[in-house]
This record gives sequence, structure tokens and C-alpha cells, in this order.
Amino acid sequence: MVSRVIPVAPFDLVIFGGTGDLARRKILPGLFRRFCAGQMPPDARVVGAARSDMSAEDYRRMVRDAIGEFNSDTSYKAADLDAFLARLEYVTIDAKGEAGWSELQKLMAGEGRVEAYYFSVSPSLFGDLAERLHKWGMADAQARIVVEKPFGRDLATACALNATLAEHFDEHQIYRIDHYLGKETVQNLMAVRFGNMLFEPLWNAQYVDHIQITVAETVGVGGRGEYYDKSGAMRDMVQNHLMQLLCLIAMEPPARFDPDAVRDEKLKVIRALDPVLPHHISRGQYQAEACNEAEMPGYRTAVGDAKTRTESFVALKTHISNWRWAGTPFYLRTGKRMAARSSEITVVFKETPHSIFSEEAGRHRNVLSIRLQPNEGITLGVTIKEPGPGGMRLIDVPLDMSFAEALGDDTDHVDAYERLIMDVIRGNQTLFMRGDEVEAAWAWTDPIIQGWEARNDVPKPYDSGSDGPTDSAELMRRDGREWRKVSP
Ligand code: NAP
Repeated sequence: MVSRVIPVAPFDLVIFGGTGDLARRKILPGLFRRFCAGQMPPDARVVGAARSDMSAEDYRRMVRDAIGEFNSDTSYKAADLDAFLARLEYVTIDAKGEAGWSELQKLMAGEGRVEAYYFSVSPSLFGDLAERLHKWGMADAQARIVVEKPFGRDLATACALNATLAEHFDEHQIYRIDHYLGKETVQNLMAVRFGNMLFEPLWNAQYVDHIQITVAETVGVGGRGEYYDKSGAMRDMVQNHLMQLLCLIAMEPPARFDPDAVRDEKLKVIRALDPVLPHHISRGQYQAEACNEAEMPGYRTAVGDAKTRTESFVALKTHISNWRWAGTPFYLRTGKRMAARSSEITVVFKETPHSIFSEEAGRHRNVLSIRLQPNEGITLGVTIKEPGPGGMRLIDVPLDMSFAEALGDDTDHVDAYERLIMDVIRGNQTLFMRGDEVEAAWAWTDPIIQGWEARNDVPKPYDSGSDGPTDSAELMRRDGREWRKVSP
């Protein structure tokens, strides 16, 4: 299947932090792929900006290496890479000082082009960058800023950051990025829900028993220990990625697929979330891998604090207090060093109200599973008769829609970042979080974290390579349910 690539308008994209890990691993290889796909106009420019003193030539060399290392698709032509690199500039700049700003201002002086400024730097510099862009006359009507996560560490800091950005930019110029929203399947979630007659009539408490959202990682904190320990799974994953998935699965159909209509509906979901009760939460820290302790340290060793109470795993049950979902629990779970890398949303439907079959046929439920990674796809478990002459025995079989199989190569190489950056250039904010959404998410998360702090809550240990602490399974078992197995 051949996808239609519509080139975006000519643009200048400045990447603050253009030498950093995110820029080298995701942003620049992603832009290169869009260039190869013909989506980036030939006169678009990308300006790397950081404190390191280097020439544009040095920067192009660095980006060439980064693309060589991080671009999964190696089938590109050398001439395309040269042409892409020729679109790159570099400015040595200090977000906290005056060095480099007049040079950047001169580079951005062209008229009638989209100007995008990607804040791929430490969050402590977001405010400085916004202020300086304004001071140097670059916060004009064409400008838009892309702000990385984390967006605050609680409600107060998120409100303060929103207020600082709002001094210099209108909300329609601010793109708060959550790369989960750029994933193909996440957008497909909306297409499946709102593009088919089949699901929406069943999408409510009357037919849905419960919904599970799992984002499991096999990696530990790695070299990010110091940063991660100040944050933990609740701030790093639940407040943003899992909440966004929860919003998309639970929201009312927006009147139109436009940014504010979608984000209004997401916001209503967050505002309707019940507070989470302490016994509806499981918190954990992964343990060292017994067989290989030297290479696989436990959480506390990895972050260098033998007494840290930060969680690397959290599972919780919550409810959405509205007409559609009253009584349907939502179970959220995320953790590091789990059995497999897997992100999945599972909608478990109720049993039929009455079975016409004998008891031996058993009771069955339809399960719709939306897999974000790996192997993006959607599976619907349906109940059929077990083949053979053994009478009416029922089994569940998957109706499988693997996107890679159905759509061929098209889905393989489009990464969430490149999709979202093109949305920024197009001026489409649908897949970006609005300021009030982020604040509402913190308003729900803060009391949970404050409760842990007030109770000096100590996370439960769990084995690396497992599905989390035992009380996570217990959280489900108490309700007569169970988690889906975390599998690759
Ligand atoms: P990083 O590797 O530490 O890179 C930071 C970048 O900022 C470097 O280019 C650095 O270059 C530049 N920088 C530092 N101080 C500066 C200053 N005063 N003025 C101008 N530039 C400055 O960080 P990262 O991992 O790329 O992360 C960047 C942002 O993305 C962070 O907000 C992070 O939370 C977010 N994020 C990262 C990832 C990821 O996978 N890496 C994932 C999600 C979100 P110089 O030292 O040369 O100035």
C-alpha cells in the first residue's frame, strides 16, 4: 500500500539541545526520514542550538553519525543524506545567557515561513528559552514552541511553567509533546472508536466489565538513575502517558476531529476521575537479578540510594464518575524491569447476560486488545465453537489485525516523533496536551504522591523480569479479575 505524503509548508526548525540524546536518537533521524519521504520541503532548514562550540560543518558531521547510529532504516541513498545535511545550521547559544541569540535572530529573519522552536533541553531551561525568544523578537505570530516532558513535577510547578510560557506565547503556539500520542495505534484507537459503528454502542459501563492499561518496560533506570529517582513511575509515566491513553479510551466522541474538540473531551475525563484510595494502589521497586547481580543491579543500587522510597512500578484502580463509565473500573499499570516490553490497552467486555449453552461450554468474554508496542495492532477475542465432533464446546480465538501485515511497510518506519514534528509544522495541536489538561492530570496525581509522602510509604520489592509486586496481582484478584500476562 502506498501512503500519500503531503509536503508541509517551508519551515525553520530550531532544536535547542540539538546536540543532546533526544535530538540525536529521535528528532534528527526522524526529520531525515521525513526528508526522504518527500514531506520536508527542499528549502526547509533545521538549526541545531546548544552551548557546545562547533561549526555548522562539525554539526553536520555529528548528525551524519547520529543518523548512521540511530536510523533503523538503512536503505536511504547517500545523496539524500547529503541533501538533508545541507539543510542544517548550527548556532552556539546559551539559554541562560546572551551568547548566540543575535546570531540566531539573524538566521530566523526570513519572512513567511513557519518558525518552530523545539525545547529539547532540561525542563529547568524551558522558561529561560521562552523569555529569550521573546526578548530577541522571535516569539512572533508565526512562532510555535515544542515543549518536552516532564511538564512540571506537580500542580504548582506545572501552573508556574504554563504561566511563564503564557507570558510570551499564546496557547495555540505551545505544543506540549507526549510521544505516546504520536504512535500509530493511539491514533487508530480514535479511528476504531469513532470510525466504526461496531464498537461505540458497546463502549460503556453496561457492556464493558473493565479496562486495563499496561505500559511495561524491560529496561531499568540505566544511566538516568539520578533523574528518575526524583520522579518515579507515577510522575514519569502515569501522569502523562497512561493518563493520555486513559483519556483516549474513555472520552466522549468529540463533535469534530479538531484540536480543541478532542482536548475538551479528554479534559472532561481527567476531571471526572475519582481520587485513588490507598488500598487501590500497588507500588514497587525492582530487585537485583539474582543470577547476575553485577550487571543487573536492583533499583536502589542503580540510583545509588539504599533507602530511596521512589517507585519503579505502580499499579492502580480508578473510576470515572460520569454517566458512561459509572461502575467500570480502570486498572493502570506501569513498571521497569518487567517480564516484557509491552504497551497495551485491553477492553474486557462483560459476559453475555444468559448462556444458552451447557455449563461445560463455559462462560466467555470478548476482549479487545490494542497493542501500542511492540507489534502495533488490534486483536478482538471472539468466542466460537471448538472444531470437531465433541459437542458444543466454546473457545476464544483472536480476530487479529496486525498493522504491519495488513498495511505492509508503510507503518514500519514512521516514528512518533517525526509524525508529531510534522503536526507542529502543519499547526495541528490535536495530539499535543493543552495547558489545562496537564494541570488537571497533576491535580489528580498530586494527592496520590502526597499520600505516599505523608505515610512514608515504602514500595514493595519485586523480581526483575516479573509482572510486578504480588499486591499488584492482589489488587485485581480482590475484584475477581486478573491482569493480562505481560508478554512480548
Ligand atoms: P541531554 O542529552 O542532556 O541534552 C541536553 C541538551 O541541552 C544538550 O544539547 C546540551 O548541549 C543542551 N544544553 C544544556 N544546557 C544548555 C544551555 N544552558 N543552553 C543551551 N543548551 C543547553 O538531554 P536529552 O536526553 O536530550 O533530553 C532533552 C529533553 O528531552 C529533556 O527535557 C528530557 O526530559 C526530554 N526527554 C528526553 C528523552 C530521551 O529519550 N532522551 C525522552 C523523553 C523526554 P550543551 O551541553 O552543548 O549546551
